[in-house]
Amino acid sequence: MSEFENQSLQAAGKPPYLLTPGPITTTDTVKAAMLRDWGSWDGDFRQMTRQLCDQLLEVANAKTSHVCVPVQGSGTFAVEATLGTLVPKNGKVLVLMNGAYGKRLAQTLDYLGRDYVTLDKGDYLPPMPDEVENILKADSAITHVAVIHCETSSGILNPVPEIAEVVARLGRRLIIDSMSAFGAIPVDARNLPFDALISSANKCFEGVPGFGFSLIRRSALEQSKGNAHSLSLDLYEQWTYLEKTGQWRFTPPTHVVAAFLQAMKEHAEEGSVAGRLARYSRNQQRLVAGMKELGFRTLLNEKWLSPIIVTFLSPQHDNFDFNTFYDRIKAKGFVIYPGKLTVVDSFRLGCIGQLYDEQIDQVLAAIKTVLAEMQIDSGYAELPEENAVTAA
Ligand SMILES: *Cc1c(COP(=O)(O)O)cnc(C)c1O
Repeated sequence: MSEFENQSLQAAGKPPYLLTPGPITTTDTVKAAMLRDWGSWDGDFRQMTRQLCDQLLEVANAKTSHVCVPVQGSGTFAVEATLGTLVPKNGKVLVLMNGAYGKRLAQTLDYLGRDYVTLDKGDYLPPMPDEVENILKADSAITHVAVIHCETSSGILNPVPEIAEVVARLGRRLIIDSMSAFGAIPVDARNLPFDALISSANKCFEGVPGFGFSLIRRSALEQSKGNAHSLSLDLYEQWTYLEKTGQWRFTPPTHVVAAFLQAMKEHAEEGSVAGRLARYSRNQQRLVAGMKELGFRTLLNEKWLSPIIVTFLSPQHDNFDFNTFYDRIKAKGFVIYPGKLTVVDSFRLGCIGQLYDEQIDQVLAAIKTVLAEMQIDSGYAELPEENAVTAA
């Protein structure tokens, strides 16, 4: 698309594409699914909730072992609800941390008053299975391990299957924050042992925001009565009420659920997890190749890049200013995402949502033009602690 056409689109009021980790750009059909009202107690809506839960369990091959408990709110509500419900008051959690979302797990446990220890790998290294093994062997009080599947702050894909194997072998329980991975990264409960896997409506399933859900091992949930610190975030009560009545305990986000069912239909039509993974991987590769041509560098070593979101180092050129860069790219029809790292200046480009080759090429063209406008000859930046990063 030419610069002119692009500007015309903007002038015509077409909203920008979101290159963010959620909310993401959804299809018109997903949005259109919200154009009617449902009664929360009504049989139609109860049927929709059942379908939602069945389909999510299906995606993870978890129908016989796990149950799906949806909960109102954003993804963090679902994480807090899951930790509060499954970790008993005398439990102890090993939190695997390598970014902002791992930190949030620890912060949540602080609020909940649950004991925990951390393995903190900084911003760009994954927690390794042997490290987890050593910590678990040295501390028999640890009951649970909590890990982020794709740590969205850097985009790193953590080695969850290998960690799950260690945790199961040592008889502990695993809680996975798979918020930005489930739906695009394969999860098979038959050979990936977990007590809970948490995600939300508005990431890889490409629905609109409004609820999260937790796939919880039935036997673990059955033992969790009375653990929760919070009325509205008690997933044991949410589940038993759902089982008994087919209804959510409190007002459900009816329109969001309707949109999600449409999104699940489109997910299946795209080839389910494999299809979505293929498109997101293609987006990521095209994006990274194009950005490299402009001189940009990724924060992570190639082998840890996820197909979900990629962190790029901010150009070290004196003319670079993130807000100007952001505004100018937005004016060309794309919303990018600021960095969320503690040590280096960076920004992120998401690969998820309704993005295809055409949009990737357009965003690359927009970035190229903006660099020229800002008189920045290259996106290049030196990597901090170069050795630490490349050693990974
Ligand atoms: C998006 C996300 C969350 C939840 O964020 P909300 O803003 O509460 O929806 C949690 N963990 C990870 C890894 C995420 O990417």
